[in-house]
This record gives sequence, C-alpha cells and structure tokens, in this order.
Amino acid sequence: MNVNQSAPPVPPFGQPQPVYPGYHQSSYGGQPGSTAPPTPCGSYNGPVPGYQQTPHPGVSRAPPSSGALPSSTAQVPCGQGAYGQFGQGDVQNGPSSTVQMQRFPGSQPFGSAPLAPVVSQPTVLQPYGPPPTSAQVTAQLAGMQISGAVASAPHPSGLGYGPPTSLASASGSFPNSGLYGSYPQGQAPPLSQAQGHSGAHPPQRSAPQQASSFTPPASGGPRMPSVTGPLLQGQSFGGPPVSQPNHVSSPPPQALHPGTQMTGPPGPPPPMHSSQQPGYQLQQNGSFGPARGPQPNYGSPYPGAPPFSSQSGPQPLPPKRLDPDAIPSPIQVIEDDRNNRGSEPFVTGVRGQVPPLVTTNFLVKDQGNASPRYIRCTSYNIPCTSDMAKQAQVPLAAVIKPLAKLPPEEVSPYIVDHGESGPLRCNRCKAYMCPFMQFIEGGRRFQCCFCSCINDVPPQYFQHLDHTGKRVDAYDRPELYLGSYEFLATVDYCKNNKFPSPPAFIFMIDVSYNAIRSGLVRLLCEELKSLVDFLPREGGAEESAIRVGFVTYNKVLHFYNVKSSLAQPQMMVVSDVADMFVPLLDGFLVNVNESRAVITSLLDQIPEMFADTRETETVFAPVIQAGMEALKAAECAGKLFLFHTSLPIAEAPGKLKNRDDRKLINTDKEKTLFQPQTGVYQTLAKECVAQGCCVDLFLFPNQYVDVATLSVVPQLTGGSVYKYACFQVENDQERFVSDLRRDVQKVVGFDAVMRVRTSTGIRAVDFFGAFYMSNTTDVELAGLDGDKTVTVEFKHDDRLNEENGALLQCALLYTSCAGQRRLRIHNLALNCCTQLADLYRNCETDTLINYMAKFAYRGVLNSPVKTVRDTLITQCAQILACYRKNCASPSSAGQLILPECMKLLPVYLNCVLKSDVLQPGAEVTTDDRAYVRVLVTSMDVAETNVFFYPRLLPLTKSPIESTTEPPAVRASEERLSNGDIYLLENGLNLFIWVGASVQQGVVQSLFSVSSFSQITSGLSILPVLDNPLSKKVRGLIDSLRAQRSRYMKLIVVKQEDKLEMLFKHFLVEDKSLSGGASYVDFLCHMHKEIRQLLS
Ligand SMILES: [Zn+2]
Repeated sequence: MNVNQSAPPVPPFGQPQPVYPGYHQSSYGGQPGSTAPPTPCGSYNGPVPGYQQTPHPGVSRAPPSSGALPSSTAQVPCGQGAYGQFGQGDVQNGPSSTVQMQRFPGSQPFGSAPLAPVVSQPTVLQPYGPPPTSAQVTAQLAGMQISGAVASAPHPSGLGYGPPTSLASASGSFPNSGLYGSYPQGQAPPLSQAQGHSGAHPPQRSAPQQASSFTPPASGGPRMPSVTGPLLQGQSFGGPPVSQPNHVSSPPPQALHPGTQMTGPPGPPPPMHSSQQPGYQLQQNGSFGPARGPQPNYGSPYPGAPPFSSQSGPQPLPPKRLDPDAIPSPIQVIEDDRNNRGSEPFVTGVRGQVPPLVTTNFLVKDQGNASPRYIRCTSYNIPCTSDMAKQAQVPLAAVIKPLAKLPPEEVSPYIVDHGESGPLRCNRCKAYMCPFMQFIEGGRRFQCCFCSCINDVPPQYFQHLDHTGKRVDAYDRPELYLGSYEFLATVDYCKNNKFPSPPAFIFMIDVSYNAIRSGLVRLLCEELKSLVDFLPREGGAEESAIRVGFVTYNKVLHFYNVKSSLAQPQMMVVSDVADMFVPLLDGFLVNVNESRAVITSLLDQIPEMFADTRETETVFAPVIQAGMEALKAAECAGKLFLFHTSLPIAEAPGKLKNRDDRKLINTDKEKTLFQPQTGVYQTLAKECVAQGCCVDLFLFPNQYVDVATLSVVPQLTGGSVYKYACFQVENDQERFVSDLRRDVQKVVGFDAVMRVRTSTGIRAVDFFGAFYMSNTTDVELAGLDGDKTVTVEFKHDDRLNEENGALLQCALLYTSCAGQRRLRIHNLALNCCTQLADLYRNCETDTLINYMAKFAYRGVLNSPVKTVRDTLITQCAQILACYRKNCASPSSAGQLILPECMKLLPVYLNCVLKSDVLQPGAEVTTDDRAYVRVLVTSMDVAETNVFFYPRLLPLTKSPIESTTEPPAVRASEERLSNGDIYLLENGLNLFIWVGASVQQGVVQSLFSVSSFSQITSGLSILPVLDNPLSKKVRGLIDSLRAQRSRYMKLIVVKQEDKLEMLFKHFLVEDKSLSGGASYVDFLCHMHKEIRQLLS
C-alpha cells in the first residue's frame, strides 16, 4: 500500500484526487556522528588501528538544509544567444565531431512551440552563458476469506475460507480510488504533459464479501473480540499480560478443550466478566490479559453494519471465540525481550547464542563471533543431518549486513595489515585466519576449522603456544580473537593487479519537461551545491577522495566539463544514444574543492538552461551506459545517482513501452509484471558490475514508469531505488532531500565480492539481495552500503557433529571510499543438534520471516502469486507440525501448540502473505508492488520486522512528562480508542491517527486548531508549538525517522475520514480489504493445516 504520498496537495477529499502512492521514506537524520574511535588494539602488525566507519565529524558535517526553492516552472529569462557560443578552450578528449551551437537537440515538438532544428551530431560543445535561446532543449491466503475477525461460527468444514476475494481484480476493473490515485490504466504513457493521471473514482471496494458465510463489516464496525471457529479456553482477566501464551488451545469446533498446556484452570469464565465482554480470555502463562470491552464510541460509524452475532445462536449467548488477547502478541514478546535482554551487553564469546531481538536495544561485545548487527541466523542450532533439517523444514539462513553501521558505543572492525604477504589463509579452502583455526605442533602449523587442512604457519607469523595450546599473542591480533575485522588487501586482490583509484560519483539529472515543471531540477541542483561537500570520507581525512561529475539528459545526453581552470562550465551534447561514448575525460570527473566555483556555476545554470524545455521524452539505458563508460575511462569504480521521471520511450537502447496490465493480477501471467520487459538492462548491469559501477535510482513518476524494468540495474549493482510518485516540491521536498543527503553520504564499499565459507557439512546454496552472481559462490556487488543485506541459505552436504558445531565465514573484498582495497571478515560459530527440540529452542522468528519474505518475493518472478502464498503456508505448517509431533508434550489435537521461539511465526507470516506484493489491494499500483519487492530484497531483519508488522504507539496515553517511548499496542483497529491519538510507522510510512473524541485541549496542543473537525486530514507537518505535548510528539517523530534508513513522510489521518482507509491497511492483525485474513482467522487456519499434517 502506498501511502506516504503526498496527501493531495489540496485535499478536498470528497473528490477523486490523483494522489500517487509512493513508498517513501528514509530519513536523513544526518548520519550519526557515530564514530567512536576504536580503542587501539594491542600491537598487531601495525595496521591502522583507527578505522572509522563513517567519518561524519559531528554536526557541522550535516549539509545545510536547503530552503524551499522557488518552484521551478519558472520564469527563467530565456536569454538569447548567450548560450550559444562556442566554448573554445580546453575541451579535451572530445571526439572531434561536429560541434554545434546552443540548441539542444530537440526531440519533439511540443504543442505549438517551434521546433528547434534537430541536431544529430554527436557532440556539442558549449560554453555557458546566459541561458539558451529557444531552449528547445530540447491472493490471499488461499482464498482465505475467513470471516472477518469476528464471531463467525465455525464453518462446517472448518473455517469459513471463502474464495479469493480480490478476484474482482481479475475482471480488470480496478477502480481508481481517489485516495490512492493509481495511474490510469491501460494507456500508453502520456507524453509527459501535465498530469497524466485522471481523476479517480471513489474507492469502490470490492469488499471480500460474497464468499464467506459471514460477513463482518468491512472495516471494523463494532468489533468484539470474538472469533471464528474453534474456541479457546480461557479464564479470567485481571492483571497485565505477562508473557505470551505459546500454547493456544483451539478445540474442535464443538467442544471446549482445556488444553494441557494451559496453566490456568480451565473452566467456565469467571463471573466477573462484564456483560459486554462475553467470552473468555486465555491466560498467558498464568497471567491474564487485560479486559477489553468493545470500543466505546465505536458503535455507529458504520450504520450499515449488522449487529453482531455469531450466526449460530438466537442470542445473547456469549459466543465462544478465540480471544485476541489470548493469542501470542508481538508487542508482548518485544516488551519481554527488552526487559529481559536490554540491560546486559550481548557478549559474542559463546557459540550458538541467540541474540536479543532486533527490537531490543543492546550493546554488543565482540568476543570471537560476529555481532548480530552483521549476521543474524534463522537458527543458532543446526540439525546435524539433512534428514532432520528436511523434517523440520526450518530454513537455515543467515541475513548478513557486512558493512552495517554500528552505534557509537561499539568499535568498528580493526584493520590488520600483514604487509606484502597479505592475509593468512587456508591453502585448500582459502578461508581467512580466524579465532577458530587451531594452532598445532608448537605453533608451526594450523588446522583449518573449515576444511581440516593442515597448513604451515609462515615464519613471519609464527608464535609460541601457551599451555592451553593458544598462541601467546592471541589477544594482540584481531584475527585471532574477534568475530569481525578487516585485512588490508594486497595488490593480488585488485583488478588487473593494480591498486584502485579513488571512486567517483556521477550525478545524472533528467531535465525533461516533467522534471523541470515539478521543481525537481531546481531543488536538486540547489541541494547538490552543498551536498558535494559531504561526500563520504575515510577516517580522519580532511576531504573526500571521491571525484564528481555531472550529466543532464532528456532524449540526448549533456556532459559537463567542470575543470577547475575553466571560468565557466562547458557542455557537450551526445545525441547518438545508440552508441554511447563519453565525450570528455579531463574535466569531467573532478575534485570538488578544486572545481568548486565551476560546479556551483553549473548547478546554478542547469535549471535556467532547461527552464523552457518542451522535451518530454527520455532515454534511460544510454544514461547508465554513459556513466559506466565514464568510470571505465577514468579507470575507477563509483556510483551513478540517476534522477529520472518517466517511462523511457525515446528511440534508444532500453526503450520501454507501457505494459502495465492489472488484468494479469491473479493469473498465471502476473509474474510478468515483476519481470523486466527487456533483457537490455541485465546485460547493462553485468557490464556495470564488471566496472564497479553502482547505480542509485531516484524516480519521480507521474504515472507508470515500469519500476520492475528500471530497477534491474540498481538491483544487480547493489544500488538503491527511491520513488516519489507525483513529486511536487512543496510536498515532497523534505523527504527527497533527506533521502538524497543520506544516500550521498553513505559509506559505500565499491567493486566488492562477497564469499561465504562454511565448515564441512553445510554450504551456502542460495542468495537473496541486490547483487550479481556469475557463478554459484561469489556475490558480486558493484557497490555495497551499510544498509544492504545479503541473505544466504545453507543446505547440508554432509553430516555435522555436535562437538564441532558449524562455522560461517563471510569475507567481503571491497574498495573503500578512499580507494583502499580491503577485506572485511565476519565469523560466526553455530551449534549443531541431534534433537529437534534444540533447533526449535534456538530459532529467531524475525530472521526467519526476513528469509521467507525474500524467498516469496523472488518466487513471484517465476510462479503465480497464489502458489507462492500456498508454499509459505505449507512450509509454516510443516515447521509447526514437526514441532508438535516431535517436541511438544502430548496433548489433545485440539490444541495449537507453538514453539516459544516461534510463537509469532503465524502472525508475522500472515503479514507477509497480506503484503502488497503477495496480495495487492485495488489501490496498489504495479509500480508500487515492484518497488516494494525491490526494497524488501535488501532489507535487514529490523526493517522487515517493522515493515510487515508496523509499530503503533499511543501518543496521549502515557503521562506527558514521561520521556520514554510509549509502549506500543497491537496493530488492530480494536486497539484504538477514539479518545486518543496514535502514531503508526513501518519504516516507510508514518501516520498520526486522531480519534474523533480526542479532547479539545489535546487537539489544540498538537494541531493548533480548536476542534477535531478543523484538523486538516492529510496534513504532513505538525505545527511547531511551544507546549509539552507538541514537543514530545515532534521529538518522537524525529527519533523514529532517525532510526530508519529512509525518510518517512507524515500523514495525519482522522477517524472516519476517507484517508483512514490508507491507515487501516497497516492494522495488520485485522482482516484486510484485499482479502487478507485477520490474525485470529489465520491462526485458526494454520491450526487446521497443522492438524491435517498430523493426522
Ligand atoms: Zn580450509
């Protein structure tokens, strides 16, 4: 779902608003000056002990925020002539082809504007002057419709899963809901012009009604906490829930089945039940959930909603139901882990320890295994045999973030320099020296912990062993006692046996009509003027070693010579996009400090030069090609920052057509929506990877741009994609600028290769993430930044044994931002087990979900979405059934018993199944789905956790003076009280939901208006008010934004307002409009699946 977009600029919600959904995000909160200088590490071979990861010396580093810019439609005085002179001078290396004067080759007559002569010469040199003249420059869960959350009685055959709902979509008639404003369907992309999106119809929800026997009000009428299906046994309530129940008993439809796992006495509900809260609550390991009545004031919003009753009884017999408070709560699990594990540092010295959850704040002390910030595993105890692994079906995977940013209190990996001999490795398997290597024969040899090969210790590395067999210098050498460290690479590790040059950044700016008109070009150029001073630097370097270059383009490309000796920048136009070449070398990539004046002049001139452009068509592949060729010519790695607005329909390699077709949803051809429409981009990506050219893509579409195709190169080169649908400076400036700053300043490893080695018995067999692989073992990354993860799956190829455990070693060879070639090594030792119970006790559900989501999101490229969903459900059921069969104490089949470490697996898996990629609502565009698919592919565990199960924080419940973050509540409408205000975030989207009965004083304090009705729905900025509540809420928003890798734009939503639907999409425990099951219903379904497997 998209949200984040601009709430319509002018929000008359009554009307269809062409708002585009966009996933947006990311905050730049400035990079934390997070670089605590590493403590010097004893004396090892003289390496620089102070490797600093992100050299952002404090505040002063943050680039100034650019003020609002005049919106671009501007007024640029389109002077004549000036622009048209020839620049003479030192343009070098330019092909000496025809040179042409000022006009940009116009490509397309637009409207009545006179067309400038189209120029087809390859190169144009132009000095700048005043602006040019006639600037022509020219799914659902297997049909799981389960009765809405509530009281439907059990379907005779189990649950009432109806046929897939969203079938409506199959008819191809997706209403363009005004809220989400999807692009007009089925038409060729309008050539840019003014908004190509037409108005939308009011959301005509094809509510998943027809199928199920019982139809709850689509969006939450009075919701009683009752449930479908099998009943749970419960008991009284009272105290706050303590820990989660992991045993939920769900008896066969007709009987209450006191589960043996339940700790409380089964039996009739205690008498103190309030009348409105019929039903029982399950105990949670002995304590009980708080009583929750129906939401006050919720009675009437949906006049049409039928009064509730389970269809069975004449009435008021309290229906039996699964109490939402009785099923495992993510909030409770998160809280418990914070309380239990947040205070002590996590020390990595012990093999196979499960780290605290990603939602817990904790410090890590590296004592021989890589920090969980670098590697998290689905299980820290691996079955010894592949038979066991197959039986359990628990995927064995590691989510690796090799360049993860550490909090300031933790030490970045030390750099070890072994001089010319380079890092010490096993002769056979090539694993790097690490704490698990065994020194023998008095220290003269070592046995490889991965392949058991015996290696000689080179004389210069020799050291005596102490009485325990340990080298006496073990604590002087990071590679002998730490889980993570770096080696300086020798020339042998460099391309062409040559140390690399420092990398370069090339900014490539679309200057077609849309880009100019939205104000993008002006904003971007203004921002770049200061941002170039904040390129990543190494350690304590005075200035960045990274050189920069600039290109603008529409259907032709304009290169700029910004050599420091020039008085003015010079432009060269390449219009032969079919055979891209770089018209200049010297002066294209420059040092910012040396060329500052010329760069500033260029960035001042670009918006003026193209101000009157009528060119609407763009090319895309040639732009990437040009950037890559420029890096190649400069013999360096680097990154291209592309700012692009439209479907590239101009005649050129990589030209695309609009092939968006929602009729394909839920058909076997749906997968084509996720596949690139041409192979050109894969080929191009491969060349980029070979050159170490990483591509970050910023998209500003007004309509379908084919994200699935345009994201191919960023995906395969380790780059990032950002999308700002219907970009308008006024609405989107903050988000875009924040993302841009953060992206440009990120520390990146260039021209990287990652290899994961394992000890005998298992091996890496599958990889997920943004990278390219030309063989089965080497993950090639043109660039890799600190936000990106690579998920690796392992399979057995032999027996493991409990004594040795299993070892992983991830080695990343990369070029630093200063051009230094390095190897970063992460080691992790896991336990191995012969008892399945040990596997289930040491799993990490958040990591499991990260893996499963990536697996599924890749699956949609090749299989029907429904198949992908079914596969996930089946796998989850098998995992849980295996536990039930082999590990749980015997109990009635009516009980659902979940392993403690996996009790959230069903709720989280349901969130994945309901996500836009696997079960899109009518308002989700094809581009949105492709976009989310790309994002999730590189997410770390913390990001997938909050993305799939958003955080919902009550803002007005805790005392105003409390400084801690308010405790979250479960993502369900039932948890909202209309007298309160809530904040919801999922890492990409940020909402504030205002209940209709919020006190006036609160409304005043936060929004500076006197009543609920005066709050502007869709508001994206809270007024800055001098009162404690306002400060607290704005502070909280700032802190949440700082935690996320993308800026989250705020949307204020009022209860019962139209926009509320957007918000409700994120209440993931509820049934979704697109047919996704509620948590309760899904749990029942899962239970049924498990029982089938067991019977
Ligand atoms: Zn070896």
